[in-house]
Amino acid sequence: MSERLCPVCQIELKPQVHLGVTIDVCPACAGIWFDEGELTRLNQLDDAILPRIDSLYQPQVTSYDPPWERLCPNCREPLRPYNYLYTSNIRLDTCERCGGVWVDNGELEVMNRVLQDARAAEVPPEVKAQVALAEIEAEHRETIDRFSFWNGLFQFLRARPRFPI
Ligand SMILES: [Zn+2]
Ligand SMILES: [Zn+2]
Repeated sequence: MSERLCPVCQIELKPQVHLGVTIDVCPACAGIWFDEGELTRLNQLDDAILPRIDSLYQPQVTSYDPPWERLCPNCREPLRPYNYLYTSNIRLDTCERCGGVWVDNGELEVMNRVLQDARAAEVPPEVKAQVALAEIEAEHRETIDRFSFWNGLFQFLRARPRFPI
């Protein structure tokens, strides 16, 4: 496999293994690339791992010129920005070809908080996920890929033991 470049800094990502899952971390901006399914797998193995990983890697640069377009480290396709769950302000980038996700440093910790809030809220998270899916479908009737990505997040929430279905 050819080298994977950070979509932000354009330098080589370093593979790091957590719970047997290999993720790709940028040594400069501390952003992380997750191949399809890796975020979900890590969270299922240990639901406290994401904020731990987030604090483990810290950015070594304080400013950089972001490229016009973020490219997938895997396929070099332009990444598509989207909001994590539908209520959050967390902007992630996904590749519609390979289903991977780019997470900037600090976002894992916030994602974890959003998930906890969703679990604590009166509305069951699976309902929120269905609303999110409906919104996404209405906005972008584009690809099965996008649907399956959101469906992955849906399963991420459904996998929580506190909300058996
Ligand atoms: Zn970087
Ligand atoms: Zn890709």
